[in-house]
Amino acid sequence: MAAAFFDADGCLSTRGFAQISAAPPGRAPAELAAHLAGCARCQRRLLVAALPSASSSPRRPPPPLWRTGVAVAVCLLLVLIAMVLTQVLRARPR
Ligand SMILES: [Zn+2]
Repeated sequence: MAAAFFDADGCLSTRGFAQISAAPPGRAPAELAAHLAGCARCQRRLLVAALPSASSSPRRPPPPLWRTGVAVAVCLLLVLIAMVLTQVLRARPR
């Protein structure tokens, strides 16, 4: 019976996940809960399946390259301004 809850790799099968999801909190079958507690792969699969945005909203596309370039240029400009300001403040008054 318990073998149906595990796949060939020894991880939880779809039935195993369904069994854990159907159980009330703290009442999952001990064998399944023990495996889930010690298996990072099954924990990741369970968390991904539980995410509400997993299927409803796709990943955001990366920003366009020109915007990244503008952000880098602005950062360099700010560093340049800071360096100039440091020189101005270090200069001794005449
Ligand atoms: Zn596992």
